[in-house]
Amino acid sequence: MTLTDSDDVDIMKHSHGLNDTTDVLVSPKDRMKVEKFAKLRGMGVKLVDHYGRYFDKEVALIIKHDQYRSLQYNSYQDISKHLKTLLKENRRYVKLQDLGTSYEGRVMTLIKISANHGARNPIIFLDAGAHAREWAAPAFAMYIIDQLVMTLNKSETEDLLGVDWYILPVVNPDGYEYSRSDPDNRMWRKTRSKTWREECFGADINRNYDFMWGYRGASFDPCNFQTYAGEKAFSERETRLVRKVMKDNSKRIKLYMSIHSYGEYLIHPWGFTGSYLPDQWEKFNRLAQVYSKAVVNAGGRPFRVMSTGQWYPASGGSGDYAFAVEKIPYTYTLEITDGYQFNYPEELLHTVLPQYYEGLKVMAEEMKRDFPNKG
Ligand SMILES: [Zn+2]
Repeated sequence: MTLTDSDDVDIMKHSHGLNDTTDVLVSPKDRMKVEKFAKLRGMGVKLVDHYGRYFDKEVALIIKHDQYRSLQYNSYQDISKHLKTLLKENRRYVKLQDLGTSYEGRVMTLIKISANHGARNPIIFLDAGAHAREWAAPAFAMYIIDQLVMTLNKSETEDLLGVDWYILPVVNPDGYEYSRSDPDNRMWRKTRSKTWREECFGADINRNYDFMWGYRGASFDPCNFQTYAGEKAFSERETRLVRKVMKDNSKRIKLYMSIHSYGEYLIHPWGFTGSYLPDQWEKFNRLAQVYSKAVVNAGGRPFRVMSTGQWYPASGGSGDYAFAVEKIPYTYTLEITDGYQFNYPEELLHTVLPQYYEGLKVMAEEMKRDFPNKG
């Protein structure tokens, strides 16, 4: 017997070496199976009881929100409305670009925030919410957006000049809304597209990019509800829209970061292999440490920095693609929030998101220094 994702075992996080955990979600009836598996291999098991109770509480809470607020889990509709409000009230700093629609027809909007849109500054491109259930990621993207706009309005502070921010706050809006629709769907991760298996839906956005597609850590079974890579690379509309942003701005994007939510990790290429690193890994590492230090200075915990492949090898991810194909010099996956798996309590967002944001501000400073705009 091996422990793989299946109908009754949901691997939420793989171990990345000694003294790390593999986190597994099972129903009470399958608990024995996992315990036996671990025991046979000399592994310890720590049980978190009644994990499912978080779901009911959170989803009930979500439905109550009838309007957008920063630092809460908002509906996709409210997020979209809020972006339009930001545009209306801040025409000088904010531009919106409708990229196209998701599989189910939701309009996907890229927000561009700059003190001077004509200056051709280096761009920091952030996306979030590739994985539907990782609600803290879009919440962080929206927090960043709100902070940037607010700061520009207060004063054109030095740290926001000289770099432009392009942010796609929800890469997978269909999956996001599906995960919000019912406690039973709370752990949904993929898109919601039809597959060749009539009863199975969606592909994993972070396995769908065209670099080493399907090589490792990806499934070709549409019914695999975690890592199905899609029928082919870029089979999903949503990944094609992210690619479009990269292609349209490939010369100017200097930092691409995909925001996810599971543990506090800042991981860089390669994702497809853990056996070796790109030549410039020291640069990746240095900038990531700068981020981590800024978060610590703001009262947060340090981020664990490594290559994605050292965490666990998976190919077809957006970070590898952005780095290898689009030649974006710095690409990362940022994993935020710790200790609550995918159910980070909404009432704690205000404690961590400002800390994470401090890290990004310092990264922006580094980008300005590394890639000065000579006009
Ligand atoms: Zn994720």
